[in-house]
Amino acid sequence: MSVAFVLPSAAAFDLNSTQQPSGPVQTFSAPDSAATLAVAPRDAYGVTAPPAVQWPLPSTTPMSSDFGPRSCAGCSSDHQGIDLNAPSGTPIEAMAAGVVVETNSPGYASLGVHARIQHVIDGQMVTSVYAHMQTGSMALQVGDYVAAGQVVGLLGCTGSCTGAHLHFEVHPDGGAAVDPVAFLAARVA
Ligand SMILES: [Zn+2]
Repeated sequence: MSVAFVLPSAAAFDLNSTQQPSGPVQTFSAPDSAATLAVAPRDAYGVTAPPAVQWPLPSTTPMSSDFGPRSCAGCSSDHQGIDLNAPSGTPIEAMAAGVVVETNSPGYASLGVHARIQHVIDGQMVTSVYAHMQTGSMALQVGDYVAAGQVVGLLGCTGSCTGAHLHFEVHPDGGAAVDPVAFLAARVA
């Protein structure tokens, strides 16, 4: 009769071995994870991060009429927004997350097919207006919540309009309009 001996490897007894015990070792918790989180505050999902704000059309879109007083035959002399000239049918995007408070109100016939969206930006209530969109392209209803960049409708020429463009307004605190260019330039990352 013979007895087989299995000699354990020397490593099993070596306290300096690189072999890890099968016990309570956790390798998924990096010691510097807290520091990593602390230097990533720009993420839109962060609790203290500012809300994302963007242009309603690509920032390279030409502007045919800027904000404020203007002199032109047949147009409003005090322009409440800016006119951006992109091809008819270009998707128009919400400048920030918000809630739709008006679509195609008859009291604003000059705006044509339009949406008014209320946002909270930097702790301030701000309303944005998107006008002259194509008939039938309105993608939203009053009460809808929208994300920044969500499509509002398609660029068109409804209402008081002589050529396809987006008329875009920004109203802080729901009051008088301000220059959307200055407003967005200060906030778009
Ligand atoms: Zn305009």
